Amino acid sequence: MLGPGPWPSLDALSSYARCVTERLVLHADMDAFYASIEQRDRPELRGKPVIVGGSSRRGVVSAASYEARVFGVRSAMPGFRARELCPQGVFLAPDMAKYASVSATVQRIFEEFTPVVEPLALDEAFLDVTGSTQLFGGPIELAKKLKARVRAETELAVSVGIGNSKLIAKIACSVSKPDGLRYVAPEENRALLDPLPIRWLWGVGPVAERKLLAAGFSTIADIANAELTALQRGAGDRAAELRALARGEDLRPVSSEREAKSYGEENTFERDVNDRATVTRALTSHAHAVAERVRHDALTARTITLKMKLARARGSKGSRSEASEQEPSYPLYTRSRTLREPTDDATVIRRVAIELWDEMQLEEAVRLLGVTLTNFVRASEQQLSLFDGVGVGVGVVGKDRASHNPKLGPALDAIRKRFGDDAIHVAIDKPEKLTPSGQKKRGR
Ligand SMILES: [Mg+2]
Repeated sequence: MLGPGPWPSLDALSSYARCVTERLVLHADMDAFYASIEQRDRPELRGKPVIVGGSSRRGVVSAASYEARVFGVRSAMPGFRARELCPQGVFLAPDMAKYASVSATVQRIFEEFTPVVEPLALDEAFLDVTGSTQLFGGPIELAKKLKARVRAETELAVSVGIGNSKLIAKIACSVSKPDGLRYVAPEENRALLDPLPIRWLWGVGPVAERKLLAAGFSTIADIANAELTALQRGAGDRAAELRALARGEDLRPVSSEREAKSYGEENTFERDVNDRATVTRALTSHAHAVAERVRHDALTARTITLKMKLARARGSKGSRSEASEQEPSYPLYTRSRTLREPTDDATVIRRVAIELWDEMQLEEAVRLLGVTLTNFVRASEQQLSLFDGVGVGVGVVGKDRASHNPKLGPALDAIRKRFGDDAIHVAIDKPEKLTPSGQKKRGR
């Protein structure tokens, strides 16, 4: 019984919730997806080191065949580095339309096994198979049938991990590659996690990893067994969350919602950039672009994130595991702010993004900047604030709300739609030219 004392810890609640729900989560990830498709379609490429992407000056590798990985080539690696490591590699431009069509086939196959499919990328998805496992004769039988269906329809290999959480399923899949199948029973969770380096944990990027290593945590077991106060020295506010994850306690649901979870715009500069005027122009352009997209979908966002990739590459971590492939070669920083009032207003988004940039006080140049919106509220459900204009918590909000004209955004959208993106520019603080040339933008 709960006394009047403190509430049970998040840890205790997590373990309780895990006891009452024995979930089965499956992570499916196509092996070297783009490169495998090219090898399938061009038999002369089979057995050769095939590298998709990385041919332009600033391009990065999108996929490397297993033959190319022997040379150390990894996805997200700059193209010039891949060429150094594997000069005899066959470098191909990506054919995204083809990969998307194969992806659609694969996603349809996933849906034969459960309606709860959460796609993560063209080549991977989480499936909640809790309700359907018995229909297929158990988790391993289900996974075998799924692999066979994908192979029969696409001639491609998919690796599959199954566990009682997203974290376990994803790691089980990674360690099973290539063409793998790994089921991890709940009592085996700790044995799977304990010896792994901390960067395998969700949310431990290069920056968090450095802090944790400096505080003496190098394996997942180190975190799982840590005293909270000690762990806080390396992980700050995230200590409890991180320790629960390290113990295999991960209650995130598989979400098959079709709605986008984030809207992001970003660009890679042709030259490295650190002058505030160029940064401001890029952030202004991104703020307007994401604002337009959320308005189009009748959403407002609470959280604004600034993404910055440093221009100077750092050495790679040297691991051969699949899970470390996504480690950027360039340090990536993100800074977020959550507003009291959700917004679809480019003025607010722009100002917050620039504030976040200023607060970073980066001394190094960046090669990439991005602005992302998350944490959405349907515009129609947005409630009127009791404290309208007061701006509790985040200083910028009150000021911006006071000057916010809800009609302005949609009016601009309509004008741009009719006369093109250059038809109208907004004068915010001082006029800014939108969308500097030479920038590549990416959608959601
Ligand atoms: Mg893959």
